[in-house]
Amino acid sequence: MRLVLASANAEKAAEIQELLAAALGDEIELLPRPGWVGEVDETGQDFLTNARLKAEALVVATGMAAVADDSGLEVDALGGEPGVHSARYAGRGASYSDNVVKLLTELSGSERRTARFHTVALVRFPDGREIVAEGRVEGAITDAPRGEGGFGYDPIFVPVGGDGRTFGELSAAEKHAVSARGRAFRALAEALSAR
Ligand code: IMP
Repeated sequence: MRLVLASANAEKAAEIQELLAAALGDEIELLPRPGWVGEVDETGQDFLTNARLKAEALVVATGMAAVADDSGLEVDALGGEPGVHSARYAGRGASYSDNVVKLLTELSGSERRTARFHTVALVRFPDGREIVAEGRVEGAITDAPRGEGGFGYDPIFVPVGGDGRTFGELSAAEKHAVSARGRAFRALAEALSAR
């Protein structure tokens, strides 16, 4: 099966490529997002709507089935924010570290640090059919960033059931084993295989 990848984010694209290749091997050929496809406005209020907007834009542009995901960090003490606003939490054009600083500032002094990463992954076909899968990983926000691995909020997220290291301190394989994206894409791969 050939799928075009909707993500323009290089770190995320690499993770999705690794996850689908690990689950499906050469059953799947993943094509990179063509450079001429413009940015998709993520105007939805939930992850499913935004993943669908991204996938559908690629379906329309290429005529091929497309795979997309939308993810974010839900912090309980912030009523689930940044959530769908994770990429631009500190404003338009914010860097990963701007977002991390804003989040740590919002949470400073707060004892309640529980949070989760939430991912919706989907494949959309040119005839409008879809396969959707979800993944979550529960964890806690640290007081300060630790680790150089991963991207986004990884240096301040400690998954439950681990040894206390942040996602930023884990290898890619260790992160994939428990991450929301890992769980969502393994479920998506299983559903694709079963078709
Ligand atoms: P997207 O809309 O799915 O591209 O993700 C939105 C934002 O959520 C990203 O820009 C990151 O800041 C954050 N994010 C998504 N996935 C991860 C992850 O696996 N680790 C850390 N941050 C993530």
